[in-house]
Amino acid sequence: MDMIGELIGTPSISCADPAIDQGNRAVIDLLADWLEAAGFAIEIMPLPGTPARANLIATLGSGPGGLVLAGHADTVPYDTGAWQHDPFRLTEADQRLYGLGTSDMKTFLALAIESSRGLRAADLREPLVILATADEETSMSGARALVEQQRPHARHAIIGEPTGLRPVRMHKGIFMERIRLHGHAGHSSNPALGNSALEAMHRVIGVILAWRGELQADHHNPLFAVPVPTLNLGHIHGGDSPNRICAECELQLDLRPLPGMDIHQLRGELHRRVTGTLEDSGIGIHFDALFDGIPAMETAPDAAIVQLAERLTGHAPEAVAFATEAPYLTQLGMDTIILGPGNIEQAHQPDEYLALDRLQPTIDLLRRLIKSVCISTDRLL
Ligand SMILES: [Zn+2]
Repeated sequence: MDMIGELIGTPSISCADPAIDQGNRAVIDLLADWLEAAGFAIEIMPLPGTPARANLIATLGSGPGGLVLAGHADTVPYDTGAWQHDPFRLTEADQRLYGLGTSDMKTFLALAIESSRGLRAADLREPLVILATADEETSMSGARALVEQQRPHARHAIIGEPTGLRPVRMHKGIFMERIRLHGHAGHSSNPALGNSALEAMHRVIGVILAWRGELQADHHNPLFAVPVPTLNLGHIHGGDSPNRICAECELQLDLRPLPGMDIHQLRGELHRRVTGTLEDSGIGIHFDALFDGIPAMETAPDAAIVQLAERLTGHAPEAVAFATEAPYLTQLGMDTIILGPGNIEQAHQPDEYLALDRLQPTIDLLRRLIKSVCISTDRLL
C-alpha cells in the first residue's frame, strides 16, 4: 500500500501539450530503487532526446524463456475540478483506492513488485522481468523504443492494463488520419469560376463509406463486442460562406482494424481510393497521420501463457476494444496477454479508483504465474 501511495503521489502525466506533459522519469526512479533493493538488475533507458521519459527493465535471474510483467508508468491528464478526491493522493474510501493511475495502471506495477518479494535470482529457473514504459497514453514512444532496441527478451508477457482480472488475448488496432482537399474559391453564381473542395469531399466520403462497407463485409471476429472493423468520420470543416465556392475542406477519421488487418496496408488503401476518386478533378489532396497508429494484436489461444491464465483465473480469454502496448511486445517475440486488476470503465475518468478487494487476488495470481513460469520445474501446463 505504501508503494501504491508513492506512485500515485508522483505525477507522471503524458500529454501532447508540453505545458501539461510531465514525463515519467520520477516514477521510473522510484520503481528502480525498490526493484534494485529487491535484488533485480536495473536498466533505465531514457528515450532519445527526452530525458524526462524513460523505460525501465528490471530483471531477476537469467537465461532463456522468462516472464515479463509490464505496465506504463505514465497517466492521462485529469479534469481539473471534476475530481472529488485529490488525484495525486491515494485515498481509501468506500472499499476503494482513489487516485490518478490506481486502475490505469500504477497499482499493477506495485503489485508486481509485491508479488516478487522474497524471490532470489537463485530461485528462478527462468528470468522474471518487470518492465515499466513511457508515453503509453500518447505516442507509445516507450514501447516503440523497446522494439528499436530489441529489448527485453522473454517468452511470455503480461500487461496489467485494467481487465477486471480476466485474461485478454486480442484487441483492435487504431489509426487516425486527416484528409485535406484544396480547390479554388470563386463567386457562387458561376461554378466555372472555382473548384469546390466541399463537393469533392462529398465524393470522397461516398468512397470511404463504401470501402467501410467492404471492410465490414470481409472481416468479422465474433469475440469482439463490435465484431467488425470500424471507421468513424469524426470531424469535417470546409468553406466560409454560402456565396463562395469552397476552396478548402478537411475530414478527420479513425479506423479500428481487427487482428490480422495491417494498418500500413489500410492507410495505403485509403490513400489510393481517395486519390483515385479525385483523379483529373484539379483538386489537391493532402494526407496527414494524426496518429500513426497501434496495430491490432492477437495471441494464439493455445499459447502457454493464454492457457495458464485461463486455468488460474477460471475465465476464457477475451477480446477488448482498447489498444495497448501488447503488439510491440508481440513484435519482440513474446506471447502477450493483458490481465490487470482495474476496470477499464474507471480509467481516464474523474475519481479513478481500484476496488480494495482486487489487491490480494492480483498478488496471489501473479505469484502463481511467476511460480508456474519461472520457478516450477514442471512443464508450463
Ligand atoms: Zn493504461
